[in-house]
Amino acid sequence: MNVEPSVQTKLLQLAGVDAELTRIAHRRSALPEQQEVTRLTGERHGYKDAAVAVEIGIDDLDRDIRKLEGEVDAVRKREDRDRDMLTSGTVAAKQLSEIQHELGSLERRRSVLEDELLTVMEQREAMLADHDHAGARLSKADQDLEDAERLRDEAMADLEVAQQRCEKDRAELIGLFPTDLIAVYDKQRAAHGVGAALLQARRCGACRIEIDRGEMQRIAQAAPDAVLRCPECSAIMVRTKESGL
Ligand SMILES: [Zn+2]
Repeated sequence: MNVEPSVQTKLLQLAGVDAELTRIAHRRSALPEQQEVTRLTGERHGYKDAAVAVEIGIDDLDRDIRKLEGEVDAVRKREDRDRDMLTSGTVAAKQLSEIQHELGSLERRRSVLEDELLTVMEQREAMLADHDHAGARLSKADQDLEDAERLRDEAMADLEVAQQRCEKDRAELIGLFPTDLIAVYDKQRAAHGVGAALLQARRCGACRIEIDRGEMQRIAQAAPDAVLRCPECSAIMVRTKESGL
């Protein structure tokens, strides 16, 4: 294949645009801003679970408190009833000591229940502090996630702009080349990542492998408009003044 050397040189511009497109695609797939969003989403899930667990814990304690309060109330009512009987003067002597005995055990029972109630209320107090802490942590996580998502969206939008600019440049450049040259270039690029590169200091700019002297001699003798391929990676080797031939 033969193509004007000046047109061949423009392949380097196309290769530059394509390298930029590859960088953009890579950056998009490994966007640190997206990784941060993923990390913060996981962290937020953890905080949300913790906050829900604390709420469930408080509900459980509230139920325990209501139950204990009901029990204390029932004991107190029985004490009141017993005292009423004692003061009514209608109770026989034998029954009197039974009632006094019962009053004693009711008081002990109530004291145990009240201690228990106090303990549960203290637990609830502590859990309310946990609840506040979990809530504050969750709203900070929400805010952090929102900020990270905004940064991610901005980074994505920047990439989108860069990609559109490259695609526009590429569309403009493509028209400069014969279609069979572009076909070779695109096939090579699809297979090896780089379609064309500068030959410089005896090295192919695509694979960086040094070309042996015999091959260099053949290259030096080739017609200026001959399209040369790298003997190692098959990339189109573009010769310019910098090639040192
Ligand atoms: Zn090469």
